[in-house]
Amino acid sequence: MRLHSDRPSRRSPSDDRLESRYVTAEEEPSRFVSTIVWDPRFLDYDFGPGHPFVMEYRGLAAGLLREIDLGPRGLLWKTDVPPADHSLLVRFHREEYIQLVEGASHLERRIWLDSGDTPGFRGCHDAAARIVQGSVEAVRAAIERSAPAFQPGGGLHHAHRDRASGFCIYNDVALAVDEACRSLGKVAYVDVDAHHGDGVMYGFYGRGDVLDIDFHQDGSSLFPGTGDVSESGHDDGEGLKVNLPLPPGSGDRALVSLLHRVVLPMLREFRPRLIVLQHGVDGHAGDPLAQLQYTRTGYLAVLHELLAFTGEHCSGRLVVTGGGGYDPTNVALTLARAGTVLSGLTDGPSDGDPLPARWRETFPSRLKVVPPRTWSDEKSPGRDAWTRETEDALVGRLEAVLGRRFPRVA
Ligand SMILES: [Zn+2]
Repeated sequence: MRLHSDRPSRRSPSDDRLESRYVTAEEEPSRFVSTIVWDPRFLDYDFGPGHPFVMEYRGLAAGLLREIDLGPRGLLWKTDVPPADHSLLVRFHREEYIQLVEGASHLERRIWLDSGDTPGFRGCHDAAARIVQGSVEAVRAAIERSAPAFQPGGGLHHAHRDRASGFCIYNDVALAVDEACRSLGKVAYVDVDAHHGDGVMYGFYGRGDVLDIDFHQDGSSLFPGTGDVSESGHDDGEGLKVNLPLPPGSGDRALVSLLHRVVLPMLREFRPRLIVLQHGVDGHAGDPLAQLQYTRTGYLAVLHELLAFTGEHCSGRLVVTGGGGYDPTNVALTLARAGTVLSGLTDGPSDGDPLPARWRETFPSRLKVVPPRTWSDEKSPGRDAWTRETEDALVGRLEAVLGRRFPRVA
């Protein structure tokens, strides 16, 4: 794929004299490879002070991508995203649930939309529906341009058809997958968020046109508790819901090894026409809510492999969304790095590359964090708990459930 082999020269990202590369398709439509969907109004998805989910961390990633020089191609920015309308939301969500969210949207006081993680807030319907529209437009851009698309504000994978869950009001990724199925037929959804993407998996549990592969910290140690290997789909979806529950501390070796041993063979057999990657970064070492130990190395491996696969088999149609992530530096840098790779910079920034001073100044003081100075300032992992025996035990269970073999990859 051309995207991989080109290494465009670029100036230092710390050069404050750089003009912003924030440009529009009208200015120079032919130079773009990937689309990024980021409307500043995504920040309206705001549960208020003290809530762990902070959309602004994703805004820092988008701001960083706007600030740095992304080489000769850059990204096509789509910044004006309306809220998804009712006819789109009901493709996945129940009418009564949408009415509940609309009602909560007009209240002065906050009510819980689930059992105590996800509060409604004034304007919550439009805020959540705008995130949905952003992810659906990312799918449309990927199809229209036969190229990747990135929605760093998306990835709200816990929302169910009839209820909110885990900080997720509407399930933008489920609606993005559904949109892609309507246009193309078979779609694969790969989820590397630390939490199981239950809303998406159960939403398509009986569907034969959606292959769902989900890495997550095992349900005995992390919300939402689902995603056991035995959950493999039913009816037409039987064998197409693949769960990879990992013990705390699993690290990059688990991610990379299972990617080659399980994910790529499943993708090759299923032959999707588009892949949605939920690129939640709460699996990164140092996340305050989860205990996986991934680093940028693991995340980049997944992104590169799926870019290569979609370049070869899906006409370039890879849609990458954000997701969980509760450490502001991890979220900002890991998602921004994903954006640099999607822009065509093969490896993204180098370790130790300084971050633009102008961007560091945009860190709101109320976040009470020291802005990172370099691209390598994400948190480092502790001991990697993954062993070959752990892997073989997990893969053995999966083989029994799916009735097939996944040989070790040398
Ligand atoms: Zn998560």
